[in-house]
Amino acid sequence: TGIEELLLSRIRDVQDYPEPGVTFKDITPLLADPAAFTVLTDALAEISVRSGATKIVGLEARGFILGAPVAVRAGLGFIPVRKAGKLPGATLGQTYDLEYGSAEIEVHAEDLSADDRVMVVDDVLATGGTAEASLQLIRRAGARVAGVAVLMELGFLGGRARLEPALEGAPLEAL
Ligand code: IMP
Repeated sequence: TGIEELLLSRIRDVQDYPEPGVTFKDITPLLADPAAFTVLTDALAEISVRSGATKIVGLEARGFILGAPVAVRAGLGFIPVRKAGKLPGATLGQTYDLEYGSAEIEVHAEDLSADDRVMVVDDVLATGGTAEASLQLIRRAGARVAGVAVLMELGFLGGRARLEPALEGAPLEAL
């Protein structure tokens, strides 16, 4: 579609970043183009509204850049899921495995309740580990999952398959 072509044209491949052999998808050209950024925001907001979401969770850090305007556009609250140690209030934490070692993300426990259906927004779904951990956090906070919406899915990394059990039937949408 036209939207897909516009968005793809604003994503830059950076070879050997952050380490040799990896091609990093850089979205900063898209963010710098107001027409493309608006198209992206509108598309993710539409997915969120259609899903019946009551809140948008953005994953640090690029999920903040995308999730915040999506939340405003959709008329929903924005909840940051941060790397461990950054949120000042009472948090729930979830650790997950990386290729080497592990990582932990946190959310303010009081930001989510049983009345919420949460849409997770991020730029890139790679192995799916970060998104999977965020779904576990959302459920542990007592809320329901409306889905996961990303700009881009790196299909060759198998993130969709990894995420599927944690989705419990909720959609994973990649533009
Ligand atoms: P995953 O947990 O392996 O799915 O990695 C996803 C997380 O890493 C997301 O928060 C992305 O922002 C980030 N990420 C992984 N690969 C890329 C990339 O090529 N471009 C931008 N972000 C990436």
